[in-house]
Amino acid sequence: MKTRSVGKQATILKTSSRDQRGARSSKEPAVVAKGPAYADPTACECCGAFFTKRTWRRDHPVTHALLIKAEWAKCPACRQKRSGTAYGRVSLRGAFEGTAAAALRRRIINVGKRAEYTQPQHRVMSVTRMEDGLEVLTTSQKLAHRIVHELKKAFGGRAAYRWSAADGYLEAIWRQ
Ligand SMILES: [Zn+2]
Repeated sequence: MKTRSVGKQATILKTSSRDQRGARSSKEPAVVAKGPAYADPTACECCGAFFTKRTWRRDHPVTHALLIKAEWAKCPACRQKRSGTAYGRVSLRGAFEGTAAAALRRRIINVGKRAEYTQPQHRVMSVTRMEDGLEVLTTSQKLAHRIVHELKKAFGGRAAYRWSAADGYLEAIWRQ
């Protein structure tokens, strides 16, 4: 009889201490404890996802002005990816002839070189001639936006952004 009641007490003690621990840890949300605090707004430098009002979204309308205001960081999904197909894409739309195409290409390469010098992970991967203009692939969305920004400064034109349904990445489109 005596042994049984001791056993019962021990069980009760264990349970109550476990409950206390559970209550304590539930006061700290896992997201806040593990991840970095993001500014509002933040754009993901890899996929272009947009953080505002405490959520990451991949369907938010994005403008050039909004991206200038945003801080750049890696979203939780991109932080988890070990190796990446993470990239940025800029589509330059227009019938760019010889010298115009060369000037655009030069500008893009220069912006890429500067970015790579300060942050080696940001690189221009390719500049390809397409039927409707040029396509630039970069290792980050941040650099894609940077390129559009420099193109606007040097050549004017308009920028638009759209979500690519296939891969969930933000695509920048520049037109002169
Ligand atoms: Zn991301």
